Amino acid sequence: MKFGYSEVCLEHDTGGRHPESPDRLRAIRKTLARRHGVEYVEADPADEATVTAVHDADYVEEFREFCANGGGNWDPDTVAVEATWDAALQSAGLARWAASAALAGDAGRETPFALGRPPGHHALVDDAMGFCFFNNVAVTARHALDAGDADRVAIFDWDVHHGNGTQEIFEEDDDVFYASLHEDGLYPGTGDVDAVGDGDAAGTTLNAPLPAGSGDPEYRTAFDDLVAPVLSSFDPDLLLVSTGFDAHRHDPISRMRVSTEGYGMLTARVREAAEETDAALAFVLEGGYSLDTLSDGVGIVHEVFDGREPVVSDEGANDDVLELIDEVRETHPLLSAD
Ligand SMILES: [Zn+2]
Repeated sequence: MKFGYSEVCLEHDTGGRHPESPDRLRAIRKTLARRHGVEYVEADPADEATVTAVHDADYVEEFREFCANGGGNWDPDTVAVEATWDAALQSAGLARWAASAALAGDAGRETPFALGRPPGHHALVDDAMGFCFFNNVAVTARHALDAGDADRVAIFDWDVHHGNGTQEIFEEDDDVFYASLHEDGLYPGTGDVDAVGDGDAAGTTLNAPLPAGSGDPEYRTAFDDLVAPVLSSFDPDLLLVSTGFDAHRHDPISRMRVSTEGYGMLTARVREAAEETDAALAFVLEGGYSLDTLSDGVGIVHEVFDGREPVVSDEGANDDVLELIDEVRETHPLLSAD
């Protein structure tokens, strides 16, 4: 794969005990150093006009001043230092690069993956939260639409948390489909089945809040029965993956049971969905807080594009997830029978 990476993202220093630390990128780099076919690209940072296409200008200014004054705790979880402003613009710029590269034809072994931080999917139109300041995938989707590079963008979010920011930004926008598999009841508490988009955009949001304890069979079934059909029906020009690895069984902040091989299985399915709809495909890093499983996760995404066939068990999903899938099917406008 081609990995978007910049040292600027290491300067966002969240302090010694914060789970979203620069060591995450260092661990990924170390793991990728042992893989074949890894290429790094340093992209330009996003400019302010690109982020204000999504975020409220007053919020962006407030965040800029907060950093210029040395930063601090924006909220109990979300920490900034002076260098966070540049890191946040860089992280958004890396995501934008990934989409542009994919839309220009980078695919297969050249598929782009933006390794930026801070992550983005909790960032709202006018607020930072959940370690996120700019919503990197949202800024990227908006940019691709505004530039005329895509007419329809789909965002598939497999981070264990619901991407409340991404959902909010596009809930009334029928040019963008947001689909999320997340742990039910986990932070930030959004992402209910009946949140399907508003007004003309009804049907362009899909949420599957999976019960705690879900693992590879549950993720596989939810993807095949829910995510794949809506992506096929929406037919995006660009598919962005909000790529978190915090549903891993060894991640400290969730109760999910996905294995590293399970992330490989999801990667292969996402690639298949992109091929089926002829969509450009780009990955953007979100969460993942065990350094080992985060870096192994990025490693296996890379390996799948390098020719690895993930080993998938044929075990079925548990009954709780099958019930949830029925509920989503009955609720969602693109999936319900009538
Ligand atoms: Zn997360």
